[in-house]
Amino acid sequence: MAIELSNLSFSYGTSLEKPLLDIPEWSVGDGEQVFIHGPSGSGKSTLLNLLSGILTPNKGCVSVMGQSLGDLSSRQRDRFRANHVGYIFQQFNLIPYLDAIDNVRLAIHFSKKSTNSDSSADIKALLATFDINESHWEKPVSTLSIGQQQRIAIARAMINKPELLIADEPTSSLDQKNRDIFMGELLELVKRQKTSLLFVSHDMSLASYFNRVDALSDINQAGGRA
Ligand code: ADP
Ligand code: MG
Repeated sequence: MAIELSNLSFSYGTSLEKPLLDIPEWSVGDGEQVFIHGPSGSGKSTLLNLLSGILTPNKGCVSVMGQSLGDLSSRQRDRFRANHVGYIFQQFNLIPYLDAIDNVRLAIHFSKKSTNSDSSADIKALLATFDINESHWEKPVSTLSIGQQQRIAIARAMINKPELLIADEPTSSLDQKNRDIFMGELLELVKRQKTSLLFVSHDMSLASYFNRVDALSDINQAGGRA
């Protein structure tokens, strides 16, 4: 299983208040692509932070690629995330003054693959896959379009060939045309590499890209706090 949650409970406040998330049982199979939708404030980003080990649950178990995150120290969780999980954020989180190649190289630096001598060829091949033209490889990413920046963010998330890719509303700042390009390239790559994908958004129109669509309100017994 790529993801297994059991008896998960999480709240930002005291344990006395109603939890934000209360998920008895939920899982994503290896190589499966899943879309979770829910309104703003319903706990989507919180769930993703629990899955990547940035937050820890008050109760219950989070297991990723068969590894129970609760059995790892916070340093071990950081290492585990760098080696097994790719993350695409709403706001890309690229380093604006670095070029595309160096932004992608950063992800390699944080993983165990960092001992490889030179990864430039791999990086360039991946950027080309995402239609980032050679003339854009060595420009500060802040000078590129939003659509290009978001495709560089996928390249960064995928360069270490993670088994699991997590995407947190990555299309919200893209226009319709760039959104369609982004979704097409993302889904093609994860299917080819048999990467499990968990994609969350409030935007139900993205559901058509996925075979499996879950409402957070169906998974979450606490029903969110929207
Ligand atoms: P979504 O991603 O679905 O918009 P979030 O997971 O970001 O929802 O937030 C869910 C709820 O948790 C919201 O009510 C939000 O205000 C609250 N929340 C998010 N982050 C924190 C935090 N660091 N501390 C306290 N409350 C938070
Ligand atoms: Mg969010």
